[in-house]
Amino acid sequence: MKSHQARLIESFEIAPEVKHFVFEVPELESMPFTPGQFVSLVAERNGKKITRAYSLAAPPRANRFELCLNRVENGLLSPHLFELRPGDEIEIKPPLGAFVWKQPAPREVVYVATGTGIAPFRSMLLEDLANGMPRPVTLLFGVRYEASLMYRKEFEAAAAQYPQFRFWPTLSRPPERWTGRTGHVQKHLPEAIGDRRDLDVYICGMKAMVDDVRRMLKDWGFDRKQIVYEKYD
Ligand SMILES: Cc1cc2nc3c(=O)[nH]c(=O)nc-3n(C[C@H](O)[C@H](O)[C@H](O)COP(=O)(O)OP(=O)(O)OC[C@H]3O[C@@H](n4cnc5c(N)ncnc54)[C@H](O)[C@@H]3O)c2cc1C
Repeated sequence: MKSHQARLIESFEIAPEVKHFVFEVPELESMPFTPGQFVSLVAERNGKKITRAYSLAAPPRANRFELCLNRVENGLLSPHLFELRPGDEIEIKPPLGAFVWKQPAPREVVYVATGTGIAPFRSMLLEDLANGMPRPVTLLFGVRYEASLMYRKEFEAAAAQYPQFRFWPTLSRPPERWTGRTGHVQKHLPEAIGDRRDLDVYICGMKAMVDDVRRMLKDWGFDRKQIVYEKYD
């Protein structure tokens, strides 16, 4: 598949050690993809070409795309991406991935994200919002600290507008004044799903959480086709 050069338009911190990036691909007029998919970024580090996948954090918009990523300490690529300045270029491979809606709306979905695992869900959600929120969605979003609730205002505004969108942030290290959910996403899964089995669950984040949630869903009798997941590690 053909690679392209992507040029950074802007990047800004949205949480401690997490940045939101906006790129454009000057040689393309548009870069089509399905919300939930990722692009691969390619760079030379220490004399070797390395490739890393990043979920697209917003739906297609002409030749632009957005990413949300955290700086992995001593990581090969992510610290380098944090150093990019507007105008800098990086090689990308075209969008790919099977982390996409398996059933059309109005099929109900539950999204389970931790950390930057929120990225593909933002893409899916912004697409749904642009279409009047055609499916019921529960977004269960776990982070340690309140400051790490990326895109919180957007999700809260959407939840206020659409009763069929439930936004459930949960903090594993809440401040004392926090009155919302606490603990890991796993703790809130029973309430999010109840005795419903006629919905699909999408899970994105690090392997330990993803495997745990998958195990819970299988124990509750979910079919493997109803469990869609993306592991970042
Ligand atoms: C399909 C897919 C989509 C992805 N989308 C995103 C995304 O939208 N945003 C994002 O931040 N990352 C995402 N990742 C992870 C990303 O590809 C890289 O693994 C990550 O940026 C680390 O790369 P690195 O070269 O800096 O670190 P490396 O030198 O490769 O070191 C890897 C180490 O970092 C750990 N690691 C991997 N991802 C993370 C993470 N997100 N947070 C903390 N530790 C991590 C691994 O367990 C491993 O120990 C995605 C991965 C996949 C497979």
